[in-house]
Amino acid sequence: MEALNAPRGTQDILPPDSALWVELEGIIRRVARSFVYEEIRTPLFEHSELFQRGVGSETDIVCKEMYTFADRGGRSLTLRPEGTAAVARAYLQHNLANRGLPQKLLYLGPMFRYERPQAGRFRQHHQFGFEVLGAGCALVDVEVITVAIAVYRTLGIQRFTVLLNSIGCRSCRPVYLALLRESMTPHLDKLCPDCQRRHAGNPLRLLDCKNPSCQPFLDQAPHSADHLCPDCRSHFQEVQRLLSLVALPFQLEPRLVRGLDYYTRTVFEVTSPDLGAQNALCGGGRYDDLVATLGGSPTPGVGFAGGLERALLILVERGAANLTPLDVYLVHLGPEAQERALLLSQELRQAGLAVDQSYDARSLSSQLKIANRKSARYTVIIGENELRRGVAMVREMALGQQTEVALSSLLAHLRTRG
Ligand SMILES: [Zn+2]
Ligand SMILES: [Zn+2]
Repeated sequence: MEALNAPRGTQDILPPDSALWVELEGIIRRVARSFVYEEIRTPLFEHSELFQRGVGSETDIVCKEMYTFADRGGRSLTLRPEGTAAVARAYLQHNLANRGLPQKLLYLGPMFRYERPQAGRFRQHHQFGFEVLGAGCALVDVEVITVAIAVYRTLGIQRFTVLLNSIGCRSCRPVYLALLRESMTPHLDKLCPDCQRRHAGNPLRLLDCKNPSCQPFLDQAPHSADHLCPDCRSHFQEVQRLLSLVALPFQLEPRLVRGLDYYTRTVFEVTSPDLGAQNALCGGGRYDDLVATLGGSPTPGVGFAGGLERALLILVERGAANLTPLDVYLVHLGPEAQERALLLSQELRQAGLAVDQSYDARSLSSQLKIANRKSARYTVIIGENELRRGVAMVREMALGQQTEVALSSLLAHLRTRG
């Protein structure tokens, strides 16, 4: 029979890499705790309509990349392509506003897109995101950016630049979009087919075009930040003032619009000069209309999302290694010593140490080889001779030092050695 492999565009996360994932998720949860964001877990699939309404039916995600299928009941379901729409849906469905506002939430987990698998692009990939629902002030925009930076700083990144733009609101954006469309109309025949489609359907997305031949025209496009209503303008100025106050360097980026329809006002990307060309770490923005679009009462929101695969690469490049620590490997020789090792391992584990041992009778040299391979900090050797005298040989692997220690004081000895 032919062996089965995992589907195209998916990956198994295997040891020892899985320990890095656990470490990374732990870092993100610790940052969440320090800023008091609570974790939310939404289903991996939702009604397709959620993303059509929430993310926007003209976006690349919804038009080209959704992993959509009909279930046996004929309902159209979609494996979630991003986290924010589902968080807003859950907020609404469970009336989370009743817990008090704002709701500060963290999510973490797999996301899906259906596209040609290519290097580094998976159909199942992983994201984490922080969302604040029910607070509209600029202080929250800046807190969310600060959270993003706290995550990547913990991963070992030192320097950051925040790319910043405001794309206005329901009242000022239509005026700007009309201006933008008008400014591109004379060049329409020279723009790429995607831009021609966007010009008609979703002109803001023109600014996203990466096609080199479009750039000379798009560079002349009017800037949304120059056409904000008074409320949006003062919000944008306050975000900039507060970023300066907390000494976060930012750079106004008039063509930053983000790929999703739900954004209003602030949009941002966090980048790092430490990372060369592929320098974007994460991105997000404000989405004050999303909850209302899903049928709720108007509720401001702001958040960001980042890729876990990318964050993991950073963690690895910054020298994270051996994250499944093994404090003690117990080497036992003879059946009595094996039983003593069983009891010892219980005692040491209760004291908080990570302890492993061989499950069958092997030679001394093969057990020592395993201890080496697993990078144990200490190898504790119990032979018949040692057992009779109530002692064990303790080998500190990094130093190659060996000491005889009474079994009764083994725990104390390991503890004082740190
Ligand atoms: Zn406005
Ligand atoms: Zn174009």
